[in-house]
Amino acid sequence: MTDFVISPPPQVALPVAGGGRFPVRRLYCVGRNYAEHVREMGNDLREPPFFFGKPADAIVIDGGGVPYPSHTHDLHHEIELVVAIGTGGNSIRADLALEHVYGYAAGLDMTRRDLQAAAKAAGRPWDMAKGFDHSAPIGVLAPARLIGHPGKGAITLSVNGVERQRGDLQEQIWSVAETIAYLSTLVALRPGDLIMTGTPSGVGPVARGDVLEGHIAGVGGVSATIS
Ligand code: MN
Repeated sequence: MTDFVISPPPQVALPVAGGGRFPVRRLYCVGRNYAEHVREMGNDLREPPFFFGKPADAIVIDGGGVPYPSHTHDLHHEIELVVAIGTGGNSIRADLALEHVYGYAAGLDMTRRDLQAAAKAAGRPWDMAKGFDHSAPIGVLAPARLIGHPGKGAITLSVNGVERQRGDLQEQIWSVAETIAYLSTLVALRPGDLIMTGTPSGVGPVARGDVLEGHIAGVGGVSATIS
């Protein structure tokens, strides 16, 4: 018996390579973590990265559809390395941070760029630019015990078979370990948390019918179709 007055929402979970599912608690995102992307957005390289969030239920399981969202005419793709936290903590030391990682996946930080630009101009929150429904397609999660901790390697995104984004994980301004260390001073990280670690340059618009295919060397892929 339960005393919930409505049915509780389903647990969001990512499929794991080799079997099983990873239950998702929160989804954090890092802004401005690759120098070339910071430059293409016209921002200051000396400014430290910062964090925003998406709801966990904005996740689209790999291969799923992303309905073109309302209130935008400029939906953008951002391919990102996703870090899955297996053990939590506060103020985690950078030199121990990777021990808290369960695994890695490729993900897409879909963005209503026009709403984000308006929010920036007005000093308003980014939630509706970043955290809309279906805004976070994520691929199969690869456990670190199988793939290790990728500190370098190509991160790419193609749209309809044409490459749009290409970078290398070693171009991240803040490493995964440094990101975990800093984020865990702001909030307690818990098992089930995901961190999207920023996108390389080449972000751009998508249209209905586009097929997005992202890949991260040594990690895996993510695909989504805009419907
Ligand atoms: Mn992003």
